[in-house]
Amino acid sequence: MKIPKKVNRFCRKCKKHTEHSVSQAKKKERGSLKKGSISRSRKRGLGRGYGNLGKWGSKPALSKWKMAGVKSSKKVDLRFKCKECGKSSVQNKGFRAKKVEFI
Ligand SMILES: [Zn+2]
Repeated sequence: MKIPKKVNRFCRKCKKHTEHSVSQAKKKERGSLKKGSISRSRKRGLGRGYGNLGKWGSKPALSKWKMAGVKSSKKVDLRFKCKECGKSSVQNKGFRAKKVEFI
């Protein structure tokens, strides 16, 4: 799917429509010394209690997963960055696409 590099969108910080640059979010590794690391998050009291939303603990092997490899497309996670103030925002709903291309 082809997506334009620049879009006019409403900026919450500027409170008006401005030009935004579009980019795709990349997967980041969890840093061992960062705020989001498991050991530091546990000290803050996260990761315990009812439900963990799949964020904490070890994940099962991919072969144990019934749906692994069934779907051929992934949901697109786009980020929009305001050109005037630099504030970035996320899209409200992802859509499925096999391949994303910026034009
Ligand atoms: Zn702005």
